[in-house]
Amino acid sequence: MKLPKSVKLGCFEYEVKEDKDENMPEFLGDMNPYIKRIRVRKNMEDQVKRETFLHELLHACCDEARLPPEMEEKFVSVVSPRLFELLQRNPKLINVLLDK
Ligand SMILES: [Zn+2]
Repeated sequence: MKLPKSVKLGCFEYEVKEDKDENMPEFLGDMNPYIKRIRVRKNMEDQVKRETFLHELLHACCDEARLPPEMEEKFVSVVSPRLFELLQRNPKLINVLLDK
């Protein structure tokens, strides 16, 4: 499973990078709002990698929306696994949302 090289959000393009475990020993992923970069650990089971990617995408959304930092991790941790499950269990939903 490969992640896209970048994602567009707001007026920015975020670089997406799969990185070695030793370069990010404490986290499965991270999002740097200053350089607009999302990193996800390279060596993870695909489902974990996908949910981690969604988690970091939501962090980028929160940053773009100027959500207070003290609310951000709670919001992302609540929404990410539920949105991931919703989309996985209802795969046609994305086509409805995108009008495809
Ligand atoms: Zn987080």
